[in-house]
Amino acid sequence: MTKHTVTLIPGDGIGLETTASMRRVVEAAGVDIVWEVADAGAAVMERTGGSPLPEETIESVRRNKVAIKGPITTPVGTGFRSVNVALRKTLDLYACVRPVLSIPGAGGRYENVDLVVVRENTEDLYAGIEFPKDSEGAQRLIEFCEEQGTGTIRPDSGISIKPISVTATERIVRYAFEYALAHGRRKVTAVHKANIMKHSDGLFLQVARNVAEEYAGRVDFDDRIVDAFCMNVVIDPSQFDVIVFPNLYGDIASDLCAGLVGGLGIAPGANIGEDYAIFEAVHGSAPDIAGKDLCNPTAEILSAAMMLDYLGEDDAAQRIREAVRKVYAEGRFITGDIRKATGSDEPACSCTEFTDALVAALS
Ligand code: NAD
Repeated sequence: MTKHTVTLIPGDGIGLETTASMRRVVEAAGVDIVWEVADAGAAVMERTGGSPLPEETIESVRRNKVAIKGPITTPVGTGFRSVNVALRKTLDLYACVRPVLSIPGAGGRYENVDLVVVRENTEDLYAGIEFPKDSEGAQRLIEFCEEQGTGTIRPDSGISIKPISVTATERIVRYAFEYALAHGRRKVTAVHKANIMKHSDGLFLQVARNVAEEYAGRVDFDDRIVDAFCMNVVIDPSQFDVIVFPNLYGDIASDLCAGLVGGLGIAPGANIGEDYAIFEAVHGSAPDIAGKDLCNPTAEILSAAMMLDYLGEDDAAQRIREAVRKVYAEGRFITGDIRKATGSDEPACSCTEFTDALVAALS
C-alpha cells in the first residue's frame, strides 16, 4: 500500500467538523495517509495575532504537494483579502474544478445532472486590483479615461480592474479540454459576456475558440453568454458537459450548479496547478450552524474522493462515492440541509451520525 502525506487544513467554522468526518471516511476506505495538520483562517489569526495564512502552512503544502482544506472565514476589515485567494495565487492553482453530479436522495431538482464547472482561478475581477473611492489611483484612472475618451467614470467611484490574459485563458481552456479527454466527456462550453466586455471576455472567447480548434474532431465546443447560460442550465442541465468560465462567473455558476443537485452540502471541488493541488468543498464556514454537529460533510468527503483520484487511489475513491450514494439512497441518515432541500419533515441526522453511516457502508 502506498503511503501518502497530505496537508490537512481544517479551517474555520464547520470546517473542523467536515474535515474530521472526511478523515474518518478516508481512513475507513483503507488509504494510508499521514495527515500533516496545518492552520489557516480567522481562528488562527485571533489565536496568534498573526497572519491568517502562516508561512508554515504554505511550506507544508509545498512539501507535500497535495492538501485538503475546510472552508475559511474571510476576516472582515483586517486588510487581508482572502486566504483562499492568497493560496491559489501563491501556489498558482489556476484551475478550479467542481463536478456537479446528481445523487439520488440528495434533493436535486433533476435526476441526471452530470456536468463539470472549470473556473479560471488567478485573474479577472478576483485579481484584487482595486482603487478605493477618492484614492490617487482612482482619480488617475478617471482622468486617463476622460483623456482617452473611453467613457466617463463618475468621480465618486471605487474601481476594480478586470484583467483577462491570453496566457491564463489558454491554460484554463486547455485544462478543460484535457479534462474532457481524460474523463470521456463530449463537449466543452465557454461562458463569457463578450458582447459587452470586448477586450476582456472578448479575448477569453477568441482564445477559447483558438484552443478549441486543436481539439476539433475529439471534443465538441460551443459558447454561451453568461446570462443565457444561467437560464439554460436551469431549464435543461443536460445540454452542458464541461463548462469553462473566467473567475467571477465561475464562482457564481458553481453555486448555481450546486443548487441543481441539492445544494452546497454535496458540492465538492479542487484547485489544481502544475505542481500543487488543494481539494475543498464549495461551501463556506457556515457560522450559523458551526459547532452544533448539524453540518453536512458530503462535499468535503467527495472532495477527498477527488483527492484520492489525484493520488492514484482510484479504487478507494470509487468506494467512497458508492458509499455516499448508498447512504443517500437508503435515506435513513440525512442531514438537515438535504431534508430541507427535499421538503421532507423526517428528522435530520447529525454530522456524526451521517459519518457513522458512511463508515458502516464502507466496511
Ligand atoms: P456558506 O457556504 O458558509 O453558507 C451558506 C448557507 O449554506 C448557510 O445557511 C449554511 O448554513 C449553509 N451551508 C453551507 N455549507 C453547509 C454544509 N456543509 N452543511 C449544511 N449547510 C451548509 O456561505 P456564507 O455564509 O456566505 O460564508 C460564510 C463564510 O465562509 C464567509 O466568511 C465566507 O467568506 C467564507 N467562505 C469560505 C469559502 C472557502 O473557504 N472555500 C467559500 C465560501 C465562503
